[in-house]
Amino acid sequence: MLITHDTECALGMLVDLLNTAPEACGQEELPDLPALRDYVVRQEISDVGTLDQADLDAVHALRDRLRSVFAAPSTQAAADLVNALVAAAGTTPRLTDHDGHDWHMHYFAPGAALADHIAAEGGMALGFILVADERERLRQCEAPDCARVFVDLSRNRSRRYCDSRTCGNRLHVAAYRARQRSAADAPVPVAAPAGAGR
Ligand SMILES: [Zn+2]
Ligand SMILES: [Zn+2]
Repeated sequence: MLITHDTECALGMLVDLLNTAPEACGQEELPDLPALRDYVVRQEISDVGTLDQADLDAVHALRDRLRSVFAAPSTQAAADLVNALVAAAGTTPRLTDHDGHDWHMHYFAPGAALADHIAAEGGMALGFILVADERERLRQCEAPDCARVFVDLSRNRSRRYCDSRTCGNRLHVAAYRARQRSAADAPVPVAAPAGAGR
């Protein structure tokens, strides 16, 4: 799959945002401006000015729209959503090597509000995934008590759980059990992986 580092970072920014929603993790993890600022710092989002309540409201609304891209029933539906997102945000592609990074493309319009910035960068990244015919990599965690999303970048698209602490552990345990099952046929015992059963 042709996915650049920048696209991967933009998708990480989206996944982080989506997973702050109550419907993803059971509580609002972006309740106020300090939490929003933490998110901006954590995701190293550049060129962000002063944030106010309107920014928080707009980011919450954007979060809902982005979630529907992950849940879209078809590529057509996802493409329509991405087109609408990107059109509303307005994009101004330009090359930059700010802050010592390698040359990369920015899509957000200069001076864009935070929600439009995220919509432009995230919408383009989602667009690249659709163009690469990789929509099935946009997943929701299969754990029964979890609705977090993730982007499955594994080679064989086999990832089923998000990397939250509970689900990541579930992942280790499932892998451990699978190894135990195959080890039952083999004479060599298999050591428990670090972290399993914690
Ligand atoms: Zn940049
Ligand atoms: Zn999960």
